[in-house]
Amino acid sequence: MQTGKIGVTTENIFPIIKKFLYSDHEIFLRELISNAVDATQKLKTMASVGDYKGEAGNTTIYVSLDKKKKTIKVSDQGIGMTAEELDKYLNQIAFSSANDFLDKYKDQANSIIGHFGLGFYSSFMVSDKVEVVTKSWQEGAKAVKWTCDGSPEYSIEDSERESRGTDVILHIDKESKDFLEEDKIEQLLRKYCKFLPVEIAFGKEKEWKDGKMVETGKDKIINNTKPAWTLKPSDLKDEDYQKFYRELYPSGDEPLFNIHLNVDYPFKLTGILYFPKIKSNIEIQKNKIQLYSNQVFVTDSVEGIVPEFLTLLHGVLDSPDIPLNVSRSYLQSDSNVKKISSHITKKVADRLNDIFKNNREEFEKKWDNLKLFIEYGMITEEKFYEKVSKFALLKNTDDKCFTYEEYEKLVKENQTDKNKTLIYLYSTNKTDQYAYIEKAKARGYDVLNLDGQLDVHLINHLETKLKECRFVRVDSDIIDKLIQKDETRESKLAAEKQDDLKSVFTVKTKGKDFYNVTFENLDENESPVTITQSEFMRRMKDMSQMGGGMNFYGELPDSYNLVLNSNHKLIHKISEDLGAEKGAELSANDKERKRLKEEVEFMEKEHSKKKPEELSQMEKDDLEKLRKELESIENSRKDILESYGAENRTVRQLVDLALLANNMLRGEELSAFVKRSVELM
Ligand code: ADP
Repeated sequence: MQTGKIGVTTENIFPIIKKFLYSDHEIFLRELISNAVDATQKLKTMASVGDYKGEAGNTTIYVSLDKKKKTIKVSDQGIGMTAEELDKYLNQIAFSSANDFLDKYKDQANSIIGHFGLGFYSSFMVSDKVEVVTKSWQEGAKAVKWTCDGSPEYSIEDSERESRGTDVILHIDKESKDFLEEDKIEQLLRKYCKFLPVEIAFGKEKEWKDGKMVETGKDKIINNTKPAWTLKPSDLKDEDYQKFYRELYPSGDEPLFNIHLNVDYPFKLTGILYFPKIKSNIEIQKNKIQLYSNQVFVTDSVEGIVPEFLTLLHGVLDSPDIPLNVSRSYLQSDSNVKKISSHITKKVADRLNDIFKNNREEFEKKWDNLKLFIEYGMITEEKFYEKVSKFALLKNTDDKCFTYEEYEKLVKENQTDKNKTLIYLYSTNKTDQYAYIEKAKARGYDVLNLDGQLDVHLINHLETKLKECRFVRVDSDIIDKLIQKDETRESKLAAEKQDDLKSVFTVKTKGKDFYNVTFENLDENESPVTITQSEFMRRMKDMSQMGGGMNFYGELPDSYNLVLNSNHKLIHKISEDLGAEKGAELSANDKERKRLKEEVEFMEKEHSKKKPEELSQMEKDDLEKLRKELESIENSRKDILESYGAENRTVRQLVDLALLANNMLRGEELSAFVKRSVELM
């Protein structure tokens, strides 16, 4: 019997392993099974090239639990190890790499998790003793047993084992007794080993017999050794891809289509990516891609490893060039990972382009489900934008689809304003903005339907990308001003009368007295009153609501404009009625106002002839008094106008009609409107 001390300078490495690798304890099983798979595949390779003369035979790896003895055993029938190999691989190599590591990172406990290749020694995260019983494939080899109890001391002795292969027996420690539950182990096997290339058996299949679940004699194999991504695309049919999708995601919608990746150079990458239907709510769709290394599960949170927008895809990526057991920040800066990312981005764009080119009808049909994904990619990945913007679609309010180029051609003539800016009109809600859409269409304009989750962001992006253009929501201004052309129209209402009417129309609506009243010289057939919302403010608010970080805008109240048509006869009528009913009062006010104004101006002039220190207190008080009087006379004029407006049913009716066209008249105000309408008839 050989005994010895493992070459570790640090007194005891195990407390360190246990402490720093705490969060990932469960990976010990993956590591042991990976080793067993490697040993099995090496044997198969040797058998296939004739180096191994015996029968490869059954190569299933058995995982078993002994609750009484508190052990987990992983048994393979691979190449096994001789005593020398045991010494070399388990005592020297594994420990020496740990040793180097500790020397290097003594002071940086946090980076330990990131760099420590765990391998076999991860078993000490859950065990207080580990035994390895192994017999090499070589003829005449003897079985040997390695034992280590968690101190740097180990022993190697002769042992018994009928055939070639290795048993690793873990004596599970007190803190880790959860791993002695069958369900737990099965769950881990299904998570990490589901697609390993060698059969893994855990217990026996069960079946119903006489109303009871009983074990059959058949091994329960927990993995699919030939998952679809490892097969040749030419050997797979659509159904096979669908079936594999179900294997990965038992519930959920069918995917739209898939990409089978198979790269050999300059890195190795295989995998199948599926395009799911994504209609809304991107957040919950993210991070469903599973990352494998040679069929060993690594992680299913790929954020930072593939570009953000690709995390919306589903499926599997497998690459031995993606380092295992390293921290996320390490992965993100890894050059292979970067190459893989840009390769996938390109493949995805190419695939979309193929569908567009070969079957545009199909592409248009799938557009609603694809749009969010594509827009996300265009906004966040410049390279993706370059490729995809050639075939990304815009849909108008009549559900017709156009590429960017086609759409530009369509609207260029009619929708270029006097500054040569191309105006893209859009709606975010076909129902709410119906009246505005109809008006725009009546002018021969086309209106896009941009009601998607990312459309506000896309618009901002396109404004910087496309030729000299602006996106303008149909209800953001009156029709004449949406796209400003050169023609101007006269007003038939004098400026002072307009000023009076602005006060008359300062209507207080419930909770929203934030209208800015303005006049526009519109055609006499246009609406007398329209409500618009500034494109800039609205868009800033929309973006900040989506978490765009611009909270300053998010806090602002909605701000609307009440636009009066100076050429509409109802507006003229109100102005005339005002004159008839309040004329006397207003001109009395005018007279007084004029007089006070003159007096104030005169006095100000007098004062300006003297230096401030020469003015007596009385003179100052007199001017102050006059100013106050003028202010109060101006206010009382405003009061006359506002209370006239408040009591004038036509005024109220016109404002309500404008609100109604904007889908903003609700509740109490709506029923007051209905009542008033009946009374007016
Ligand atoms: P790694 O697997 O990364 O090389 P490990 O610490 O897991 O590191 O294993 C060290 C070495 O021990 C392996 O490279 C292999 O040569 C040997 N080994 C471990 N497990 C087995 C096994 N089940 N059968 C044969 N050899 C094994």
